[in-house]
Amino acid sequence: MTEKETLRTWLDSAERIVFFGGAGVSTESGIPDFRSTDGLYHQKYDYPPETILSHSFFLSHTEEFYRFYRDKMLYPDAKPGPAHRALARLEEAGKLSAVVTQNIDGLHQAAGSKQVFELHGSVHRNYCMRCHKAYPLSRILETEGVPRCSCGGIIKPDVVLYEEALDDDVMRGAMRAIRHADVLIVGGTSLTVWPAAGLIHYYQGNRLILVNLTKTEADGRADLVIHGKLGEVLREWDT
Ligand code: NAD
Repeated sequence: MTEKETLRTWLDSAERIVFFGGAGVSTESGIPDFRSTDGLYHQKYDYPPETILSHSFFLSHTEEFYRFYRDKMLYPDAKPGPAHRALARLEEAGKLSAVVTQNIDGLHQAAGSKQVFELHGSVHRNYCMRCHKAYPLSRILETEGVPRCSCGGIIKPDVVLYEEALDDDVMRGAMRAIRHADVLIVGGTSLTVWPAAGLIHYYQGNRLILVNLTKTEADGRADLVIHGKLGEVLREWDT
C-alpha cells in the first residue's frame, strides 16, 4: 500500500483521531512558521524572536514587544486552509475527538473545530493585567504603542510567552485526549518547543502518523511518515 492508501485505511476505520499540530498547519493560510527557511527565525531583528517573545521582555520593553507582535504575529485576514477544514469535517463526522495545537491564530475554530486545546493561547483573547477585563483582537489592532485598558492597566495577549507556564487544564485535557486516541496525527510542527513536544509520548496506540514538510526528531517513532504539505495530504477530507 502507498502512504496515502495506508492513511486512508487508518482514518476510515478510526473513531477517536487526535490531531496535534503546529505552525506548519497555518503556512498554507499565509502565516509564516518559525523554523522554515523563510520563517521568522531566519529574519534579522535587534533581538532574537525568543527574546522578544519572552515574559521578561514583555515587561521590560512592552512597546518594542508590541511593535514586533503587531507586525509579525497578527494575521487578522488569514482564512482556514484545507488542513483546518478537513480536521473540522472529521470532527463533525464523529471520527476526530480533539485538535491539540501550538498555534495562536484561532484558525481551527474559524474552520468549525469545537474541541481545540490551544497549548499556547490565542491572539483573540487579551486581558488587562490590572483589572482582568477582556478585550478582542481588534483592540490590539486598532491601538498604537502599548494598548491600555479603560482602567489604565496594560493589556496583555493571552498567549504563552517564553518563560511562562502552560495552562494546567489545557495541558491535562490535551494529555487525556492523546492518551485515548486510536490514531494520532502529528503535523506541521518541528517538535522542538517544550513541553508541548513531549505530548506525543502520551499516545498509547500503534497508529502514530507524522505529516511534515521536513524531517523531525520523531520520524523514527512514527508508524507512518509522510513528508509533504498537510493541506495536500488531508485534502480529500476537505469536502
Ligand atoms: P515550527 O516553525 O518550529 O515548525 C513548523 C514545521 O512545520 C516545520 O518543520 C516545517 O517544515 C513544517 N511545515 C511548514 N509548512 C508545512 C505544511 N504546509 N505542511 C506540513 N508541514 C509544514 O513550528 P512549531 O513546531 O509549531 O513551533 C513554533 C511555535 O511558534 C509554536 O509554539 C507556536 O505557538 C508558534 N507559532 C504559531 C504560529 C501560528 O499561530 N500560526 C505561527 C508561527 C509560530
